[in-house]
Amino acid sequence: MYDVIIVGAGPAGLTAAIYARRASKTVLVLEAKAWGGQIINTPDIENYPVVAHISGADFANELYNQALALGAEVKLEKVIGVEDLGKIKKVRSTLAEYEAGAVILATGSENRKLGLDREQELTGRGVSYCATCDGNFFRNKDVAVVGGGNTALEDALYLADLANKVYLIHRRDAFRGEETTVDRLRQRENVEIIYNATVTALLGEKRLSGIEVTDKITGGKRSIELKGLFVAVGRIPENESFSALIDLDQAGYAVAGENCRTKVPGVFVAGDNRTKEVRQLVTAAADGAVAATEAVKFLNA
Ligand code: NAP
Repeated sequence: MYDVIIVGAGPAGLTAAIYARRASKTVLVLEAKAWGGQIINTPDIENYPVVAHISGADFANELYNQALALGAEVKLEKVIGVEDLGKIKKVRSTLAEYEAGAVILATGSENRKLGLDREQELTGRGVSYCATCDGNFFRNKDVAVVGGGNTALEDALYLADLANKVYLIHRRDAFRGEETTVDRLRQRENVEIIYNATVTALLGEKRLSGIEVTDKITGGKRSIELKGLFVAVGRIPENESFSALIDLDQAGYAVAGENCRTKVPGVFVAGDNRTKEVRQLVTAAADGAVAATEAVKFLNA
């Protein structure tokens, strides 16, 4: 029996662990994959207050060590359900069952797929969802990035240093991501931005050898020969296991306000899987602090 069980060891979950431990609560963090969450794929964080530059992996490691040093327990187990038994919440993982007085759901989100034929089959054979993980395989080759958010922009910039040529394909004529990054991309000679276009087919037999791109305005199609396609079209909240417990909105985000409380007393949500306007590292950490503080208040009431 723990005071607080936190599901997810990303920036939100680990920050929650720090706050709950500093309030002297016993804390178990359960994580399905690896600690750090999606930030581990960011090569350089430049927008976290005070820290001008830090890699996502270093940020994740520092945060993890800070939570451990404060006495949080972290286990790599996938949570498959949370049950509300009133004062006690039962948390089931693929390996065990745990109980806690309060639960914080900080599961973040997973990569959205393009939904193309053979996308799964070609994943790891030219199709990738992580430029920093796989970019090195495409040194001096031609690659494309799909998407118009900060991830796509930063991926394209990162790949421009490695690849021979980078096509950045966006379905609209204006980017969702930061203008400063767009400006940097425009200055790169080996980056070609293709607006108002979508990738409509993956070409190649055993490995990706090219893509078909369709212009959304003219309907015209063109084939581009390349070795790598980096898909960066957003993320899907990982709330499936909690759909019977809490309210989810149409897009699958856990419904909760800025106090991170769900409709179930003692169940809180923090980070990218919560309904909110701004999903950033700093707001994920802020959510972790708020959710843990609310959980402590709930336990002490
Ligand atoms: P995002 O901001 O949701 O952007 C997703 C992009 O993919 C959008 O441009 C969207 O187009 C496009 N898209 C969605 N579905 C598509 C489809 N089926 N086919 C083609 N394009 C599609 O996602 P993100 O870039 O992963 O960023 C997620 C959050 O993390 C954002 O809040 C972002 O600011 C943040 N982030 C921050 C940093 C940083 O601060 N350094 C770095 C990375 C990410 P539309 O624009 O037309 O909708």
